[in-house]
Amino acid sequence: MTDRYCVGCGAPIQTTDPEKAGYTPASVLNNDTILCKRCFRLKHYNDIQDVSMTDSDFLAMVSQIRDKPGLVVHLVDIFDADGTMISSLPRIVGNKRVLLAANKTDLLPKSVNRNSLTKWLRSAAKEAGIAVEGVYLISSQKGYGITELSTAIEEERAGQDVYIVGTTNVGKSTFINQLIRNTTGDSNVITTSYFPGTTLGFIEMPLDNETAMIDTPGIVNMQQIAHYVSDHDLKIIKPKKEMKPRVYQLNSQQTLYFGGLARIDFVKGERQSFVCYFANDLTIHRTKLENADNLLTKHKGELLSPPDEKTLQTLPELTAQTHKLPQEDIDIVLPGLGWVAVPGGGVTVTVHTPKGFQTSLRKSLI
Ligand code: GDP
Repeated sequence: MTDRYCVGCGAPIQTTDPEKAGYTPASVLNNDTILCKRCFRLKHYNDIQDVSMTDSDFLAMVSQIRDKPGLVVHLVDIFDADGTMISSLPRIVGNKRVLLAANKTDLLPKSVNRNSLTKWLRSAAKEAGIAVEGVYLISSQKGYGITELSTAIEEERAGQDVYIVGTTNVGKSTFINQLIRNTTGDSNVITTSYFPGTTLGFIEMPLDNETAMIDTPGIVNMQQIAHYVSDHDLKIIKPKKEMKPRVYQLNSQQTLYFGGLARIDFVKGERQSFVCYFANDLTIHRTKLENADNLLTKHKGELLSPPDEKTLQTLPELTAQTHKLPQEDIDIVLPGLGWVAVPGGGVTVTVHTPKGFQTSLRKSLI
């Protein structure tokens, strides 16, 4: 099968994994020319779909663009900035300028301070080894911030190609469709401007006669909790509507469980409010610290759910880390799940998260 290539994107044709590049149903293999499913949908339905690749496939593919000039737009999911930020992006894509676009901001509560959020994203990017030219808060679904970002792209690209980069599920397809609609005002542009025969295996959309916007395949980052939970649980932990903060007044020696996926023990300090920002469907359960271990052992997968049975087989065990919070408004960020604001800070907490998913602290966004 490897001697056949998609005439659209150039990916080697395969019939085994619909999620990966070059997938085609076996029924069309006898056609003279073959379009992979992704290019077929693009051509006939004007719809961009994402494909995923392993890190090494992705690296091999993306390394082809390392020495070409261009601007990178790195899309991250605002609810999993740590899990969706591609560490050391410059090593992968070369020394290109990077704009960071944080997607799904429509789900944030109105009370979130956008300046603080932008600052935090910039520093999170820096920590991941990415110096960004600008941070843009967008919603691909609602179209928020897209015009501003389009303008920035046009300015920053200085007549060069634009590479769109992101991990799977950050909303890259939704973003590109939105961006194109916004730029051209014509939702048919993908179909009409679509041209076959590129060799990189990327989907390219011409921006003018010489340059293009290039959709790179979504990278699978095993730092995303989404890869360790069942589809059923993923639906529960992913916010679908604007999050409603849930406030708990806790005394020390009390615990909050977020389903059974994470837990915060209030170890030491005066009575304190804990403001929880999670998907509205994720159950939060309060208990006494002394009962907390028992509760998990007895009720994991039932009262404390997610995890469901399937998730329990793949999700790493919880491990604990103790933090003495500085005396200011602090957010405890639980990667891929949400965050808990602790106004005034100054208390000691122990945070339990699945092994490998480290909590981070930031100045509160509220
Ligand atoms: P891709 O895998 O990166 O191409 O991601 P998709 O574009 O397929 O989007 C992944 C999921 O996120 C889909 O369920 C989208 O509906 C959803 N999504 C994408 N962008 C947004 C957004 O701005 N806001 C919200 N609430 N959901 C979004």
